Amino acid sequence: MTRFVPLVLALLAALTSQSALAQQPAVPTILISIDGFRPDYLGSGNTPHLDALAARGTIAEMRPSFPTKTFPNHTAMITGRIPDHSGIVSNNMIDPMRPGKSFSLGDARQALDAFWWDQVEPLWVTAEKAGVRAATMFWPGSEVAIRGVRPQDWARYDEHVGNLQRVNTVLDWMRRPADIRPRFVTLYFESVDTAGHRHAAGSAELDAAIANVDAAIGRLVAGLAAMDRPANIVVVSDHGMAAVSPERVVQLDELIERAAYVAVDTGPFAAIEPAVGTDERVFDALLRPHEHMQCWRKADIPPHFRYGTHARVAAIFCLAENGWSILSGPAEYPLAGGSHGWDNQWDEMRALFIAAGPSIGQGAHQPFDNVDVYPLLARLIGVAPLASDGDAATLAGIVRR
Ligand code: AMP
Ligand code: ZN
Ligand code: ZN
Repeated sequence: MTRFVPLVLALLAALTSQSALAQQPAVPTILISIDGFRPDYLGSGNTPHLDALAARGTIAEMRPSFPTKTFPNHTAMITGRIPDHSGIVSNNMIDPMRPGKSFSLGDARQALDAFWWDQVEPLWVTAEKAGVRAATMFWPGSEVAIRGVRPQDWARYDEHVGNLQRVNTVLDWMRRPADIRPRFVTLYFESVDTAGHRHAAGSAELDAAIANVDAAIGRLVAGLAAMDRPANIVVVSDHGMAAVSPERVVQLDELIERAAYVAVDTGPFAAIEPAVGTDERVFDALLRPHEHMQCWRKADIPPHFRYGTHARVAAIFCLAENGWSILSGPAEYPLAGGSHGWDNQWDEMRALFIAAGPSIGQGAHQPFDNVDVYPLLARLIGVAPLASDGDAATLAGIVRR
């Protein structure tokens, strides 16, 4: 009797691994994010490979979620949850449960702590749980064991890893034998955003950054073709970019002394906590009318922003007039190029969407909300999407039957 146990176990293992393989979607999906890529960067002569993808697939402009920053919007696309629901309410945030600590991109100890991320489940976690192998060549949150799960292949974010090196890593994954080949891959590029912050639209530096990422995507497409591995490629960006100027600055120091408040975030918007509990002077100084910014108590943020119910949204939220910056002391970036973070309904904040591949139809699509990408991705990789703010109907028509 006992001799049969190992045999039965081996049989069971074989069956399970076969069924796991059978669940794998036939065609892998590669989700590419080009941080800060405005849709109008296309067609300017710098993007032959993206133009070609758009021509054989579906192209649209996407409305980012508010606030129009990197971490909240990458989370919105991969979970279908707007920032107010995901808990990733900004690139910089505080939480009443973690007094004295704050989340920021540069602080790995906090940014890599699942505490900040666990409120929602990224698609790579849902995929892994469903037996669909996932691999991430960077994506905000992908280095964290969210709900205890990491993609089977992942990399610690490092902007020194070149764009071609990132592409080569993805190609190496796609070259693997079927049983260990990922079926859902993310790939992230920050260099267009970096150039867009530092240099003006139309500058040689920004054009070069756009052309460089386009060439890297060209290499990916060519590499997949050379190994005869068809893939569904979905290219997105997280937000647009608009010009800033040292002439368009609201300086908080001129309204209230710096010791009286904590600026959790500054720039196109500011997130402010009074330093001492509910210091009414801070509220008085900020909540009154200003020429180029408007501040609200978090409960009073206008409903169309869909922002302010989460515990991590600071007590006072100030939004600059489009193109203006709110600073507390010197700027994070020199105010020479662009920025983002303003109203997500502003056209300049629009993001890019291109999808192409065997499962994707051809054509131009109406603008849509970026949370709607999530149910599309879930469908492409063959997993059931979790409840979200995204509407599966929006992009259902672009999938070939
Ligand atoms: P933003 O200013 O909102 O556009 O943020 C963009 C910055 O986010 C880029 O300069 C990247 O270096 C940074 N970034 C992107 N992904 C990650 C990550 N996984 N970990 C830390 N920083 C990241
Ligand atoms: Zn970004
Ligand atoms: Zn940026």
